[in-house]
Amino acid sequence: MAKRDYYEILGLNKSASEADIKKAYRQMAIKFHPDKNPGDAKAEEKFKEAAEAYEVLSDGNKKARYDQYGHAGSGSQGGYSGGGMNMEDIFSNFGDVFGNDGSPFDSFFGGGGRSRSGQRGVRGSNIRLKVKLTLQEIATGVEKKLKFGRLVMAEGLSFENCTTCKGSGQVRRVTNTFLGQMATTSACPTCQGTGRIMGKRPAGSNADGLVNKEEVVSVNIPAGVANGMQLSMSSKGNAGPMGGPAGDLIILIEEADDAILKRDGNNIVYDLYINFADVALGTQVEVPTVDGKVKLKIDAGTQAGKILRLRGKGLPELNTNFKGDQLIHVNVWTPQKVNKEEQEMLEKLRVSENFKPKPNANDKGFFDRMREFFN
Ligand SMILES: [Zn+2]
Repeated sequence: MAKRDYYEILGLNKSASEADIKKAYRQMAIKFHPDKNPGDAKAEEKFKEAAEAYEVLSDGNKKARYDQYGHAGSGSQGGYSGGGMNMEDIFSNFGDVFGNDGSPFDSFFGGGGRSRSGQRGVRGSNIRLKVKLTLQEIATGVEKKLKFGRLVMAEGLSFENCTTCKGSGQVRRVTNTFLGQMATTSACPTCQGTGRIMGKRPAGSNADGLVNKEEVVSVNIPAGVANGMQLSMSSKGNAGPMGGPAGDLIILIEEADDAILKRDGNNIVYDLYINFADVALGTQVEVPTVDGKVKLKIDAGTQAGKILRLRGKGLPELNTNFKGDQLIHVNVWTPQKVNKEEQEMLEKLRVSENFKPKPNANDKGFFDRMREFFN
């Protein structure tokens, strides 16, 4: 099968900048991430394909060779010739694409702890925090200071080499079988494979030598997040026992209810109530939006139920430049009680020829309007 062009895979042209490449890869990775598409082999293929393209195009040398020779230039390199990147490789790349552009997040999936090499011991547990955001905060993105307790290694905690395995973390067992002697190597049961054991445990620390410590982290939450999304910050969770790597801090996004504005995807829906005279004569109203009040002209003769659109006044989509709209639903307020004078005026209007309903083909019914705006 012919290999697809790396630029084409990421939806870019050859003049794409380093930032464009990173951004395009991030979008593809989010879209085709296996956590989001469980069991979808096609998505996984696309996910791998994008990772391979990113691996080459994000590396100056590989990119230069690819730009000059195309896929033929990659043969001797090996690393990207076969399209055989495995998932672990890709996940270790994730830290890079999600972490090095000023965003503190490893991923948008909360699964940051897939494989971390270089540190021994049992990984600490993740900490989950909920963060409640207003629509205004979601619209602009926001920096939040989060205060929470996490387990950290107690001060003064020391380790000694494990005497069972002499610090190797592994024990070798030789058993006699009818085929002869068989040697098996397994993690040392005394130190759980860490190669070391705890020295004197400082006062106040738990069985793993950890103490609870209050921590404050500053999190930049990007614009456009939604209820239920998770952001993760690596190694900000609980420390692992025996000096093992820390878990992650997982931040669960919650949307605070807004009494006035309602979210519908990237759109904001607002119910406007005006009186009959205003729709009959036309008027100007002020409507609240996620970024302040906006003046809006209501044409004379506007029908109740009409939906007006403020383009681009909705919420941004995560990681793109796209912005939703604000939809304004025009409700005509009927007075609950009228006084004598009003009654007389209304009785006159009631019989006026001009006040008889005359809907024509251009007056859309409720379902047509819904179809028009929510499709
Ligand atoms: Zn040991």
